[in-house]
Amino acid sequence: MSGAERGALVTGSSRGLGRAIALELGRRGYRVGVHYVRSEAPAREVAEAIRAAGGRAEVFGADVADAEACQALVKDATAALGSLDVLVNNAGITRDTLALRMKADDWQQVLDTNLSSAFHLSKAALRAMVRAGWGRIVNISSIVGIRGNVGQANYVAAKAGLIGLTKALAREYGSRGVTVNAVAPGFIESDMTESLPDELKQAYLKEIPAGRFGRPEDVAAAVAFLASDDAGYINGQTLPVDGGMVMP
Ligand code: NAP
Repeated sequence: MSGAERGALVTGSSRGLGRAIALELGRRGYRVGVHYVRSEAPAREVAEAIRAAGGRAEVFGADVADAEACQALVKDATAALGSLDVLVNNAGITRDTLALRMKADDWQQVLDTNLSSAFHLSKAALRAMVRAGWGRIVNISSIVGIRGNVGQANYVAAKAGLIGLTKALAREYGSRGVTVNAVAPGFIESDMTESLPDELKQAYLKEIPAGRFGRPEDVAAAVAFLASDDAGYINGQTLPVDGGMVMP
């Protein structure tokens, strides 16, 4: 079966990596659920771009930090797309500061948005995938979830947690035709990285064998592969897309 018969929800696809993933899946013929929490107009533009290229897309707004909103999002997306065969847990935020200065709320917001959301959305989507005997979940982690990072205890814990969640779900549902994998982007040009100080960006650049920062399209290509039939025997893995920055 090609993308043409499948529905795919990409959380946080109004901007950045999620936008590129939604556009790529749209190009491959999936019925795409474009999702946002605040940026409705940019999300509508992404859906419009998919349709203009001959694809199909629907737009959904929901706060994934809210468990009930996650359940409603999966229900709405399944109804509007006809089926939800591919779930890309991409929505994420940072609230960076040293652990000693980190407020409980900064910790909780990042865990709720980046990690708990993936559990609630996956749980809501899995039942139908298991029933259909086919499904793909791709979690957008980060290389910092593998190697750690200063000033990001909340974000690193969430991204490492996503790798663990990926492995647990992969073991639970691998025998039912469902694969669960993670992509661990390195430094990718987006709103999230734009505001980092120039000295920090230059320091990161020195660590990247590819000699450049990543583009959202680099991540989208990896996600589209993991979502495809071709990746059916890849399960529970974390694929770094980082120009060689981390070699686990
Ligand atoms: P971004 O440009 O800041 O976009 C974040 C997206 O997440 C937006 O679509 C945003 O929606 C959505 N979002 C944020 N909070 C949400 C919430 N509570 N409920 C629903 N949606 C929410 O980020 P990005 O750089 O594209 O990153 C995308 C993912 O890749 C994140 O999980 C991030 O951690 C991961 N990642 C990024 C990099 C990088 O270098 N950029 C590296 C490693 C991993 P609105 O537009 O409506 O606010």
